[in-house]
Amino acid sequence: MKPFKICIDAGHYGKYNHSPAVDDYYESDMNWKLHLMLKEELEKYGAQVITTRENQETDKPLFERGAMSEGCDLFLSIHSNAVGDDVNEDVDYPISIVQLHGKGDELGLKIAKCVAELMGTRQEGTIKNRRGENGEYYGVLRGAAAVNTLGIIIEHSFHTNTRSTLWLLNDDNLKKTAKAEAKLIAEYFGLIS
Ligand SMILES: [Zn+2]
Repeated sequence: MKPFKICIDAGHYGKYNHSPAVDDYYESDMNWKLHLMLKEELEKYGAQVITTRENQETDKPLFERGAMSEGCDLFLSIHSNAVGDDVNEDVDYPISIVQLHGKGDELGLKIAKCVAELMGTRQEGTIKNRRGENGEYYGVLRGAAAVNTLGIIIEHSFHTNTRSTLWLLNDDNLKKTAKAEAKLIAEYFGLIS
């Protein structure tokens, strides 16, 4: 059997998307930490893991990052979400952004629900897709689609929400998230039974 191969993308570079709720939090920092933890956990299941960037300081265009997943079974882009520019304590849920063809709906929903349970968010985990002028609206998903890779963006709830932002600032919580996501992916792709 050919080994399972995944491309993990840390959303954004440098210090990007500062939380209006918790001063210490930058989305780009969380994305970077979590994507490396997820890499480590997936490798424990024998997965071949590539990442889209060598360091946090360097940007790479969205489409290119998605297209780096050529030959992979899955492309996963790691994020936290925002609603507007201000603190919003009501909106609090993980969401998987899946591709238009629907093949990622099941896995996307599983991941979102798993993250909702871990984080204890106010609303349930859910999925959505979005069509743009040239197919997928989101560049990374368009890039992944161009090389026929199943692509999912996972938003780990909202960094406009104080409770969720504080939760994401805790490295133990990120480790738990990486372990849970890796297990779910390993189960989904048959790396474990
Ligand atoms: Zn983001």
